[in-house]
Amino acid sequence: MNAVESAELSSFRMLIGGVETDAVSGRTYRSLDPYTGQPWAEVPDCGGADVDAAVRAARQALDGEWGRMSGGERGRLLWQLADVIAEEADDLAELEVRDGGKLLREMSGQMAGLPEYYRYFAGLADKVQGEAIPTGKQEYFVYTRHEPVGVVGAITPWNSPLLLLTWKLAAGLAAGCTFVVKPSDHTPASTAAFARLFTKAGFPPGVVNVVTGWGPETGAALSSHPDVDRIAFTGSTATGVEVGVSAVRNLTRFSLELGGKSAQVVFPDADLDAAANGVIAGIFAATGQTCLAGSRLLVHEAVAEELVAKVVARAESIRLGDPHDPATEMGPVSNEPQYRKVLSHLESARAEGATVACGGVPEPELGGYFVRPTVLTDVTRQMRAVSEEIFGPVLVVSTFADEEEAVRDANSTEFGLAGSVWTKDVHRAHRVAGRLRAGTVWVNAYRAVAPQVPFGGMGASGIGRENGRAAVRDFTETKAVWVELSGQTRDPFTLG
Ligand code: NAD
Repeated sequence: MNAVESAELSSFRMLIGGVETDAVSGRTYRSLDPYTGQPWAEVPDCGGADVDAAVRAARQALDGEWGRMSGGERGRLLWQLADVIAEEADDLAELEVRDGGKLLREMSGQMAGLPEYYRYFAGLADKVQGEAIPTGKQEYFVYTRHEPVGVVGAITPWNSPLLLLTWKLAAGLAAGCTFVVKPSDHTPASTAAFARLFTKAGFPPGVVNVVTGWGPETGAALSSHPDVDRIAFTGSTATGVEVGVSAVRNLTRFSLELGGKSAQVVFPDADLDAAANGVIAGIFAATGQTCLAGSRLLVHEAVAEELVAKVVARAESIRLGDPHDPATEMGPVSNEPQYRKVLSHLESARAEGATVACGGVPEPELGGYFVRPTVLTDVTRQMRAVSEEIFGPVLVVSTFADEEEAVRDANSTEFGLAGSVWTKDVHRAHRVAGRLRAGTVWVNAYRAVAPQVPFGGMGASGIGRENGRAAVRDFTETKAVWVELSGQTRDPFTLG
């Protein structure tokens, strides 16, 4: 481990009803910096009573000033929030680097991009409108209203805490909902600090509340809470299933953004330099710890050798090191359990007969949880490293002979989050994009997202979409209102 241990721990608190607060029990836990492997922050370790208090505060805000605001007023607050975030972006980026070990150069860009989400959804806040519906029943005037679904429990993972929270908050606040947010126990600090910005931006107390806690209990208390109206979850598929089941028990609405095992499909006419660069971006950016990681490379057999050589050469030259150093290209794996998981995949891939074209080993002399960028060839679909999400810097490579085989192989996974097609043939590009079973497909590109564009998965990658115009509607309930126009008395024993 590196010897850089700060003498003092940074301290964070929860936000409940606009008040910065500790856990009722007074318990705290320590968050580790994955680069140094040392504790750097202390946060409240809350229990059920704290979650109850946060849900109560969110309900009160919904029934209070916030619930009475017009869409335009909510939009103005979201716009003010965007300005406050822009001022604080550097500090937020620093917290995400300390807690999660991602590169400062990536997190600075991510934080600088957050305001764009709040501004986009600010513009939609005053456009949450229903419609007048003509029916065959002339004596009725019928219209719909889209009312906020209510109190939302937002549960987020450790890989991009504030971006993935923003994908929930911006649309949900535009719709008029209130929130209880539960960040990952591994990366609580940035969300705790972010909560303060709502007060600074002028939001009424209780609109956004944050609870922090170690282990699965806090998230479970939130997702099974009977007074939560909707759960917005991002995390692993296994936890997502648990969250969905407990939400259904209360008939709570839910959305799940889950894992992936996305394929980058490279045809022989592709620009191989561009494809190699896209493959590197897809699996080694963020140390492979993104849901949309392009963790499977499917390449036509005619160009496989050439492309793999390019990818391996670039992978071997990736600079590992201090996430704060602008020259660093890949930081550590974000936490110890995840580090162990990546190493166990490397071990089983070897045991199952995969060839390690590069990497395949940890990098202990750098300290922290470093793993070398890894490319595995000679793999089969049955291998764990091919069928399971690793969520680390590990690429598996297989070849195909024709388009049919490419599509079949790309879709031979329970996941369906993302994918890419690399080709110069415009017909093939759209044809294959249409056939990939994935919520997002990039053509000759990888790893681009925007507030205007829906994101989410098929199959084991989740239920629902975040971002895009429709996201606001997903945080509302539709109500149909029937207004009798004739003023006549009706036959009470027939359906009107
Ligand atoms: P995780 O499922 O372990 O945890 C996610 C969140 O759920 C955390 O806040 C955790 O504390 C909480 N949690 C744990 N147990 C719970 C329970 N029983 N009930 C309720 N909440 C519980 O996931 P992770 O390891 O933090 O994140 C990595 C996973 O997230 C990967 O699978 C990745 O693909 C996925 N992910 C998906 C997207 C997407 O948009 N589809 C984006 C990023 C990450």
